[in-house]
Amino acid sequence: MSDTVSGGSGAALAPVQVQASDLPLYCPGPRAPLWSMHPRVYLDVAHTGSVRCPYCSTTYQLPAGTVVHGH
Ligand SMILES: [Zn+2]
Repeated sequence: MSDTVSGGSGAALAPVQVQASDLPLYCPGPRAPLWSMHPRVYLDVAHTGSVRCPYCSTTYQLPAGTVVHGH
């Protein structure tokens, strides 16, 4: 939470809430807008609870307390 983004253009992207059922998380997802299309990359959101896509800077958040089932 120490990573402060200060954009003056007001174009900040709202974090995308994901659920355990969405894992493994990849971006762009099935509902990603066309402008954000890029090579598919898998993101490890379960490790820290939030992750930012290195391609389109979309931030994904996993709700606190979400149980990720291992196998
Ligand atoms: Zn992305």
